[in-house]
Parts: sequence; C-alpha cells; structure tokens
Amino acid sequence: MGLVVQKYGGSSVADAEGIKRVAKRIVEAKKNGNQVVVVVSAMGDTTDELIDLAEQVSPMPAGREFDMLLTAGERISMALLAMAIKNLGHEAQSFTGSQAGVITDSVHNKARIIDVTPGRIRTALDEGNIAIVAGFQGVSQDKKDITTLGRGGSDTTAVALAAALDAEVCEIYTDVDGVFTADPRVVKKARKIDWISFEDMLELASSGSKVLLHRCVEYARRYNIPIHVRSSFSGLQGTWVSNEPIGDKQVEQAIISGVAHDTSEAKITVVGVPDKPGEAAAIFRTIADAEINIDMVVQNVSAASTGLTDISFTLPKTEGRKAIDALEKNRSGIGFDSLRYDDQIGKISLVGAGMKTNPGVTAAFFEALSNAGVNIELISTSEIRISVVTRADDVPEAVRAVHTAFGLDSDSDEAVVYGGTGR
Ligand code: ADP
Ligand code: ASP
Ligand code: MG
Repeated sequence: MGLVVQKYGGSSVADAEGIKRVAKRIVEAKKNGNQVVVVVSAMGDTTDELIDLAEQVSPMPAGREFDMLLTAGERISMALLAMAIKNLGHEAQSFTGSQAGVITDSVHNKARIIDVTPGRIRTALDEGNIAIVAGFQGVSQDKKDITTLGRGGSDTTAVALAAALDAEVCEIYTDVDGVFTADPRVVKKARKIDWISFEDMLELASSGSKVLLHRCVEYARRYNIPIHVRSSFSGLQGTWVSNEPIGDKQVEQAIISGVAHDTSEAKITVVGVPDKPGEAAAIFRTIADAEINIDMVVQNVSAASTGLTDISFTLPKTEGRKAIDALEKNRSGIGFDSLRYDDQIGKISLVGAGMKTNPGVTAAFFEALSNAGVNIELISTSEIRISVVTRADDVPEAVRAVHTAFGLDSDSDEAVVYGGTGR
C-alpha cells in the first residue's frame, strides 16, 4: 500500500461546498488503496482576516499570541474536513501541528521545522483512518509554545510530513492547474510546465511565485520528495517538481523556466553613510539582530565632496516598521543622515538553468523592459536568475513583456484560475 500526502490550500476549502468537494477527492485516493495524510490550510482568506483583526487591537501584536490566533484558522478547516470525510462513510481524524509532531524552533511567525515525529499519524493510519493535519503550525522544541511557519507555510508542513512518513509523493492541490511560466492571474497566455527541476522551482519560489513556498521546495530537494502541483478543481495532470523527469516521458529542461514577480517587498535607503570600512557591516548587523531577512542590496558611488554614500536594500514589507525602528535606535552607532522607506516597488525575475550557457539572455531581458518603457531601480543576478526592481505599477506590464520576449506565450489555451481571490 502506498502512502500519499495531499495538501489543500485555502482556495480549495474556501467554503462548505469546497470542503465537501475536497473530501470526495480524498476518499477516492483512499479507495485507490493508498494510506492518505492530508494537510489543510485555513479556509479562503481566513488568515488575512485574522491578521487584520489582530492589527485592529494592537499595531504590533506579540509574536506568541499572534501565532496562537493564526493557528485557529487551520484548526477550523481540519475539523470540518474530518467531519465531511466521516459523513462519506470513511474514518478520519484531525490533528493540530503539535499533535502531528511538527517540532520547530521558537521564532514566532516564521518558525523553522527542526524535527517531525509523526507517531500519532502513523497510529491513526494503521488503524485505517485518513489523517488530517493542520498546516502552517508546529510547537517549539524548547518552550513548547505554538508557532507558525510563515505565510504559505502549509506547503512546508506537507513536504515535511511526506519526508518523515517516507511518502511516495507530496501532492499540492491549489486553484490553478500547476506551475505556469508566469502567474496566470497576470499572464493569460502563461503555459503550464509539465516538469521543472527543484533548482529552477526554488528560484521561482524565492522570487515570488507563491504557488509553492521556497522553504517547501528546499525541504523537498533535501529529502528528494517529488512534488505534484495540481488543481483540486480539475482532474488534469499538473506539474512535477523533482530532480529528474518522472516516468517515461522525455521532458527537456527548458532554457527559461518562467517569469516571477513579487510586490510584497519594500526598499529602505540609508542616506548619508560615511564611505569607510565597517559601515555596511554595522547596518546589516543591526538588521540581522532584529531577525530580518533582506533580499537585494546596492551601494551608490560616494560623492567625492562629502565622502558620503547611500545604501539601499529590499526586505519584506511586513518587516519594514521593525527594520526602521532598529536602524533609528542604532543611528549613532552606525552614523547616517536619514532613512527613506518606499513600499511602492515590485520585483520581476527571469529564471532558468539554461541561462548559464546561453549568452544574450540578460541583454534580451533588459531590451524587453526598455521596449515596455519600464525603468529599472535595482538589479541582482544569480547563476540562473536575473531580477530587477521597478515601480509596483509597472510590474504586470513588465511581466507580460518579458514573457512574450522569451517566447513563453502559449499559442493555445488561456490559463484557468479556478478560485481564490489572489490576496
Ligand atoms: P493555495 O491557497 O492553494 O496555497 P496560493 O494562492 O498560495 O494557493 O498559490 C496559488 C496561486 O499562485 C495561484 O492562484 C497563482 O495566482 C499564483 N502563482 C504565482 N505564480 C505562479 C506560477 N508561476 N504558476 C502558477 N501559479 C502561480
Ligand atoms: N493559512 C496560511 C496562510 O494563509 C498558511 C497557508 O495557507 O499555507 O498563509
Ligand atoms: Mg499557498
């Protein structure tokens, strides 16, 4: 008997009808002779609504209580899903992350999984149950507090359980038919990808393609768990994410896998920094000590007359307030004139392993942006990715222009978005 882990995102269980539809699908997998573990997200936009609510009572809610609140969303859907399955005549039991053995560090709101001890899940399966696990949550190893894994974290729960239970596959069910060459909400002509390597998927995910979370892909690569991303609304084959193409189908690695965009970041510019050794170190030590991850960094050429320079970096908007406060607090230690905060930026990234060996990709990327009249503010590259920061308003047009320029437009169907609000 095979063991499969299936994860259903919030858009797939947005209402009672959705929960009943998903329950039927889960029962089918069980009837096909599998042991089935299901990871479920909060219904629809529940997590966003809980965040809004928290912000109404406190501008900076305490991490521990915030996590306690957010995990309630997944507890609702796991219990309802178990009920719906029982109603179809099959045994199911729901478990919180903590009960399922998801052990994390104690960094609230973005905890990392450090161990998974799924003893209770194994027992439930052996007794003939379908096990339903609340995604996105765990319990901290030292303090035994409830933690969450960061937005989109149910993907990571699913892969971590698949690894711990030695599952054959981790199926991620969502509101689109798989991973596309760009977000189908922005590019109607985006094409579904049949197979993509962990390497390229990791870059797409960390560049903003939220169809899979980058930590989940990282985890899957480490434990070599194949992921099948597909729609819970259709019966179509989705996208396989793995080291090598799965099955006998010969799929060639594309030169360019896709275009990703991200409007969740902001830019901070530290103005009037003395151009001497140790300044960048002092700035980024301050940011690191506040446990904030940064993305792109640029330093301007210093003005000869003043010996002062500017340093800009990007970071998640959600960390903006914390970063500004930390820098202000350390202003005398670091030495700078002022801080500028800009949250009207967007990032566009072109991803593909073929970039390494195909000259001209960078030139074609900048030409496409220039033809679309898009101004570039920051640039960063890796071996298999080029990213630029632009005005947020320019992002949709820029993504479409780059997608077309690299011949990624589909010449047949339009990409379907089955549900979700895209929030
Ligand atoms: P879920 O609720 O199932 O976790 P998410 O909203 O987190 O769903 O992720 C699915 C969404 O990801 C899609 O609706 C789509 O708008 C977005 N997306 C962004 N980039 C891509 C891409 N390259 N391929 C497919 N979907 C993408
Ligand atoms: N409910 C959480 C979120 O909205 C986790 C998830 O959906 O993966 O971010
Ligand atoms: Mg998601």
